[in-house]
Amino acid sequence: MDTRTSIAPHATEICTLPFLVPDYVNGDFAVREYHNFIDGAFAPSPKGDRIIVTNPSTGEAIATAPESTAADLDRALEAATAAGPAWARLPAIQRAAPLRAIARLIRENAEALARLITEEQGKILPLARIEVNFTADYMDYMAEWARRIEGEIIESDRANETIFLFRQPIGVIGGILPWNFPFFLIARKAAPALVCGNTIVIKPSEETPCNAHEFCRLVERAGLPKGVFNLISGRGSTVGNALASSEKLGMVSFTGSVETGSRVMAAASKNVTKVNLELGGKAPAIVLADADIALAARAIRDSRVINTGQVCNCAERIYVHERVKDEFVGRLVTEMRRTKYGNPLLDENVEMGPLINEAGFRKVDAMVKEAIAGGAEALTGARRGEGRNGFFYEPTVLLNCRHEMPVMRREIFGPVAPVATFSDLDEAIALANDCEFGLTSSIYTSDIRAAMRACHEIRFGETYINRENFEAMQGFHAGWRKSGIGGADGKHGLYEFLQTHVVYMQH
Ligand code: NAD
Repeated sequence: MDTRTSIAPHATEICTLPFLVPDYVNGDFAVREYHNFIDGAFAPSPKGDRIIVTNPSTGEAIATAPESTAADLDRALEAATAAGPAWARLPAIQRAAPLRAIARLIRENAEALARLITEEQGKILPLARIEVNFTADYMDYMAEWARRIEGEIIESDRANETIFLFRQPIGVIGGILPWNFPFFLIARKAAPALVCGNTIVIKPSEETPCNAHEFCRLVERAGLPKGVFNLISGRGSTVGNALASSEKLGMVSFTGSVETGSRVMAAASKNVTKVNLELGGKAPAIVLADADIALAARAIRDSRVINTGQVCNCAERIYVHERVKDEFVGRLVTEMRRTKYGNPLLDENVEMGPLINEAGFRKVDAMVKEAIAGGAEALTGARRGEGRNGFFYEPTVLLNCRHEMPVMRREIFGPVAPVATFSDLDEAIALANDCEFGLTSSIYTSDIRAAMRACHEIRFGETYINRENFEAMQGFHAGWRKSGIGGADGKHGLYEFLQTHVVYMQH
């Protein structure tokens, strides 16, 4: 998601979602009750347990969502299966029309949706607005592909024969989502899936189901045939696992942690279901001695505080050339220290919100403490954000981090910048590559030869040179090693949602 160029153009539009308006106008966050969206309608929720959604800035309950059962999931899968053939038969340009309608409705409701995302996920409002508008742009972008899906004609070895390679829909897609960019991830799964002629069942994260249920209210108004888009909320270990295990699924497209991704892959293997996995990262940022140090410090700081450091592709470990260590670290500490954080719904000027939940907070704090016990030096932060009820963690800089420390090897997912030094580019590239993750990476240098070497030798799916880590929708976001299988965005991401069919025609 490009956070620099995707400025929220509709942020001041009047909220038209009737469900949301009273809550925000009155400042009265009454606990709302959400329902699954199956076969084009909101389904009466099961009377059983409900997921309680909390605001991570305050710890207060704001909404409940169904803890769905296997029977609920079956109904959603049946609806998606039944809707499939008619949807697939439509010309792609007709499938694109409801996507554009959803994009328009998202923009009309941008401010209400952004506030809801901030409330349940904790990101600052400007970032939530970018997420919402980027989601609308993404729906439009994928709709554009309707006239660009292409097959091939292949030369035959035989006389009077033509070989056609068709690209055809896979069937029912299961989309399992994380909580960090919850609204955008709906579009990242649903938009390419639907324009390609598939139907979909989405399971949002139990941390952030509200925005997904509100998305369904837009789907309801967008003219999508019933059953094409379904949403079912529930726990990962039950509904998520049942979805990935289902024989009705043509592909499961999962975004989340490596641990869960590997469980999803195991569940899908029972039916040899295709998997598309977008997993965690441990992005190295390499700062060479000839870099623009001010730019590097600012971009890396932004990378650590955006979404409170809870972004799969942001710089998670920093290697700085020993000659410029003092200048770089000095600037980074200054930038991190002056980061204003707090409850983003109460103060629009904060630059950082809370971590997602208590478990996330404990994980970050434990990794920081472990690093300090192992010899790292905390130059700032390394503690709970003071005087606040939510899951706030102070922006932290750790110096003298060693390669074997967990803080340099495992995903932190918090506003923590662990720093190590290197003496030449060979060493920096070797340190960067010695990692089980392979999602993104970045390098700061004014030497084109060093930059080109990094392009060839850094073994990651994405590399950013002299800029912040954020992908474009027309690129291809695909991790190497444990960071995933397949990818998302652009032409290559779209084609993940199609399968080939080769026809040999004698004539
Ligand atoms: P998570 O793995 O805990 O959960 C993701 C989803 O999986 C949730 O909806 C959860 O309910 C579900 N789930 C849990 N157990 C399951 C099971 N056994 N079977 C099926 N589904 C199950 O991840 P998270 O904490 O929500 O998200 C953070 C992670 O996502 C980080 O590791 C981050 O790097 C990664 N992420 C990756 C990308 C990418 O594009 N590569 C993008 C965003 C987030």
